Amino acid sequence: MQQYALFGNPISHSVSPQLHAEFALQCNIKINYQKMLVPLDQFKNVVDHFRATGGLGANVTAPFKTQAFEYADQLTARAMASGAVNTFIFKNTICIGDNTDGIGLIRDLQQKNIVLRDKTILILGAGGAARGILPSIIDEKPRDIFIYNRTIEKAKQLAEDFGCGCGCGCEYDFVINTTHINFQKDFSMDLAGKNIIFYDLNYGERHKTFHHYAASHNAKKIFDGLGMLIEQGAESFYQWFGIMPDTTLVRRNVA
Ligand code: NAP
Repeated sequence: MQQYALFGNPISHSVSPQLHAEFALQCNIKINYQKMLVPLDQFKNVVDHFRATGGLGANVTAPFKTQAFEYADQLTARAMASGAVNTFIFKNTICIGDNTDGIGLIRDLQQKNIVLRDKTILILGAGGAARGILPSIIDEKPRDIFIYNRTIEKAKQLAEDFGCGCGCGCEYDFVINTTHINFQKDFSMDLAGKNIIFYDLNYGERHKTFHHYAASHNAKKIFDGLGMLIEQGAESFYQWFGIMPDTTLVRRNVA
């Protein structure tokens, strides 16, 4: 059976194995896609071992997306543009790094009829996921993008890399959470803006405190990250097998 994996830490919450099992069933492909909890200082060793034992591809999640960028031998244009990798394609001795987070987000927004053009956007967090989605968000031509992060230097660096603003203070139309913090404990900022659309990259239990926060801050709509997860996963699957799964079927099955 063909071996695929998801590398991350933590990893237990992820439903990616179920998604890829659905994609594979739909496309009549047999794969073994396993979650791999990677010790924080062992990313390279674990990936090396997986490749040496027949791994053909992988997804990468927090906190390893920038390490995955460094690890790859070759990068797709969209991985290069973001500075982060969430998909590995192992071909012979070459590791190709791709990033499907941006296209995954945009396809999910399209499904939800959300238009970013001329909107003022706030991104919470400045890690690998924020990097992954920024080029695709910029392509949608929003009015302004601001980045807010606990570690200010990282927000500044991201803002500089992508020509965005830093911090908070504007009226926002669209707020994207790319952190996995507890919004009841770790976030006290009041957001300005009316009818804000809140979009969380997290889903399930990990979406709950953001949902609660958004509901008490002028939310027009609140979305979790399951739709994006499905779309980015489908694009990774396409990169591995050359077949695009029908995500509407999968959306129905995992909803
Ligand atoms: P990452 O690189 O580890 O970045 C985490 C971010 O969260 C950083 O900005 C970090 O701030 C911030 N953070 C962590 N703990 C914090 C705290 N206690 N208080 C304030 N800020 C804190 O992770 P990532 O790869 O960007 O992923 C982030 C999340 O997005 C994960 O939960 C992942 O599962 C999710 N995600 C979902 C999808 C999807 O398809 N739905 C796709 C990609 C990612 P500092 O810089 O200060 O450390």
